[in-house]
Amino acid sequence: MDQELILTHLYPKTMNTYGDQGNVLVFKKRAEWRGFKIKILTADLDEPIKKSDFYFFGGGQDQEQSLVSKDLIGLKTELLKAEAENFKPMLLICGGYQLLGEYYQTADNKKIVGAGILAIRTIAGPKRMIGDIVLNLNPVLGISEQINDKKITTVVGFENHSGKTYLDKNIKPLGQIVKGYGNNGEDKTEGACYKNIIGSYGHGSLLAKNPHLADYLIKKAFEVKTGEKIELENLDDSLEWQAHLSRLNYSNLK
Ligand code: GLN
Repeated sequence: MDQELILTHLYPKTMNTYGDQGNVLVFKKRAEWRGFKIKILTADLDEPIKKSDFYFFGGGQDQEQSLVSKDLIGLKTELLKAEAENFKPMLLICGGYQLLGEYYQTADNKKIVGAGILAIRTIAGPKRMIGDIVLNLNPVLGISEQINDKKITTVVGFENHSGKTYLDKNIKPLGQIVKGYGNNGEDKTEGACYKNIIGSYGHGSLLAKNPHLADYLIKKAFEVKTGEKIELENLDDSLEWQAHLSRLNYSNLK
């Protein structure tokens, strides 16, 4: 395979909490192991965003979210919106997820305007939602993995947010919460999916412990770029799956 995929890491310096950048490394390595060439671009404050095959946007704090919100308005929002509508895959975590939604209302009632690509709204709640999360993936995504005698349809992660996110009816959750708070601690949903965008509160780093999600995004990036279907070659990722399963066991969810 001699195909190049361009990955843009959005706001890597400004939005950089909880090792979310590890998702970029996982995407890159798993794609390279299949023979793809990966070119990584970055776009931070005052830097242009170039059209890419995959976008990653990690979490950050309220103050940084406010700076990014102002930077995103205009051409950058237009470009990302067009890319989203053209089915470009994106992985958005926590603060990045909130910022591609309509708005994030902070604890002091300030509205941080988002790009409005996802029909979601986030309102800061009185307590931080922190801890391990486990969710059952939304079947619409068609993601599952056979590991030994187990069919895995779970995603494991770690959440740390005070924002409570509510999805409009046309936005599907990434999954149903089995453990943790998820979007808002109320409706048992976690994350969102829209076209080929995945948003989640799962930090550190989500793709490392969820190789099925990483491969889903690599596949989408290739398929949208070329218009061709692809089956990715299997990798020896038994260690990654041990990490996934240990989080399930730790959560008493065998
Ligand atoms: N500031 C946001 C919240 O607490 C996002 C935090 C994050 O990205 N970890 O909801």
